[in-house]
Amino acid sequence: MENGKLPHEHGTRAASERIKKELGNMEKFQLVADIFKQLGDTTRVRLFWLLCHCEECVINISAMLDMSSPAVSHHLRILRGSGLIVCRREGKEVYYQAADTQQSQLLHKMIEQVIEVTCPEET
Ligand SMILES: [Zn+2]
Repeated sequence: MENGKLPHEHGTRAASERIKKELGNMEKFQLVADIFKQLGDTTRVRLFWLLCHCEECVINISAMLDMSSPAVSHHLRILRGSGLIVCRREGKEVYYQAADTQQSQLLHKMIEQVIEVTCPEET
């Protein structure tokens, strides 16, 4: 692509210079890809969605997902690493919940829109 000109000229709505410039920012797009990779697993989507609505310990989460605690812990670690969930220690117990960020809220709403479920907090 020379001088910002594209190989084909269709006379249709063309990508702006700004779009072309943003596309070059690999690191930013990598961030998005990484977030979707975190949620590219059914268990983690269920886990994340669950934690959008409550704060729970590993044992209770395991019971709700019908999975072993080590398996749940593994997925919790991955989600924590991406900043989608946070944890809080209280005595011997550690509680997990979705991070209070716009990113988490958007993903929460996106999941509900995709699976066509009304947010349990809205009913
Ligand atoms: Zn919800």
